Amino acid sequence: MARVVVVGGGIAGVYFTSRLLELVKDVEVVLVEPEDHHFFVVGVPMAFGGLLDFQELVFPLAALRRVRHLKFAATALSQEKDKPCVRGAREGPVCGDYIVLAPGAVRIGSVNYWTLNGAQELYNKVVSAKAVRFIVNVFTPVMGFQELAYAIKSRFPEKEVSVHVVYASPDYDFLLDAWASKAREIGVEVSSDPPEWRQGELHVSVPAVKAHPLAANLEVAPTTFETDIERVYLIGDSSLIKLDLPPVGWGALWQATIAAQAVASEILKGHVEVEVNQWGGRDKDSFRNWLTYRMTTGTPLVHLRGLYDLWKKIIKNL
Ligand SMILES: Cc1cc2nc3c(=O)[nH]c(=O)nc-3n(C[C@H](O)[C@H](O)[C@H](O)COP(=O)(O)OP(=O)(O)OC[C@H]3O[C@@H](n4cnc5c(N)ncnc54)[C@H](O)[C@@H]3O)c2cc1C
Repeated sequence: MARVVVVGGGIAGVYFTSRLLELVKDVEVVLVEPEDHHFFVVGVPMAFGGLLDFQELVFPLAALRRVRHLKFAATALSQEKDKPCVRGAREGPVCGDYIVLAPGAVRIGSVNYWTLNGAQELYNKVVSAKAVRFIVNVFTPVMGFQELAYAIKSRFPEKEVSVHVVYASPDYDFLLDAWASKAREIGVEVSSDPPEWRQGELHVSVPAVKAHPLAANLEVAPTTFETDIERVYLIGDSSLIKLDLPPVGWGALWQATIAAQAVASEILKGHVEVEVNQWGGRDKDSFRNWLTYRMTTGTPLVHLRGLYDLWKKIIKNL
């Protein structure tokens, strides 16, 4: 039976696992993840918007039936007896016929809205602030601040909410431009100037994001996401950054679907075969077009609710 080691139980790792188990009935999946739970980070704005409780975004990995969870942080890749493997500081090697790296990205900054505690802490500050201003002044900002701004404005219409994109990589332009006109429609101000400081306001400096150390020296094929190490794939935020795409969950879903098809077809047919999927197309340019369309037409919180309901079913089946 083929053995697939998935490193990282976030959006990309979970969705990859779910698609793989649908495509190949007879496969062993091992999940290397340092946390006890999966955190549905894309849903954080829903909790800010009051659509659900923060705790509902947490899914314990001990409840998984078809996936074996190994609790450690992978620190290095290696090759043992012709198989790709990962090791932790004290653990391993854990080897498989395939390794799928989905460790997310490293986020650097003074605010943290992608973990349970960090998101709750920020929410508490939002509640008592007169106005909330997100300031982007880094080359590669952590995405999600736009959805948080929407959610805060929807829940607290009396608060002023604004986004100040003072500086960001041109790679984000296509996404932020499409988003800005929608934001203005619902009352979130968008500008390229920094805000003035006023008493009682909350200013949130959006942190920067960079590729995970595990991914640092890898090259990624833009069509299958296999790396330059055979049978090692890289998907999710780190992969998107390496491909000059913004690190967003839609990208993680697109890549997870494609990588699952690639691994499944190789297991079942002996060669890699992938088809265009509903999440975004055949390559990075078609994904970029799809995402721009999605950003200009979407109604974020409602879309997220649908995704969350789908997600609960996905986790239940793992
Ligand atoms: C508040 C917020 C709202 C967002 N909203 C949206 C949205 O509406 N739409 C959208 O498209 N995107 C959104 N995003 C972006 C989206 O959440 C990310 O792009 C997505 O989570 C990336 O998935 P990932 O699996 O690559 O990383 P993550 O979801 O961050 O998961 C990475 C996982 O890897 C684990 N890990 C880390 N290091 C190691 C290691 N060494 N070994 C093993 N495991 C490791 C982590 O513990 C984690 O579980 C939002 C982000 C935030 C913060």
